[in-house]
Amino acid sequence: MTDKKKLLAATKITCSKCGKEDFVSFFADGHRNYFCEECLKSMHHNRKKGRVKKVYDKRKKSDLYEFICDLCDCFRRATYSPEIIQGKIYCKECLSKRKLEERKKNRKNTTIIEKSGSIKKIDG
Ligand SMILES: [Zn+2]
Ligand SMILES: [Zn+2]
Repeated sequence: MTDKKKLLAATKITCSKCGKEDFVSFFADGHRNYFCEECLKSMHHNRKKGRVKKVYDKRKKSDLYEFICDLCDCFRRATYSPEIIQGKIYCKECLSKRKLEERKKNRKNTTIIEKSGSIKKIDG
């Protein structure tokens, strides 16, 4: 075993996106845009957004779908193909939430007029 220390050239950069100062492990010559770790992560995350990737899980021997839910913004690896509504990817949870909210909305708009003429509102 060689006792080789990792030599990291820490260069102070200012993130072009959020303005935060951060250190990078490479030499930054200052001629391009640099981003802090956080912004890089979120940019990487956003790049993956809007796409559903079908992967095959060898261990489970089943197809899996990788996607980022547009609503809760989290990365999912699911056995189901997500619902895409108006170009937005919904995970199962968000889809059921959406359905619930839609049902609520519909209910709020319903006012039942009883025979006696009194208006009965149904609480959502
Ligand atoms: Zn940043
Ligand atoms: Zn979601």
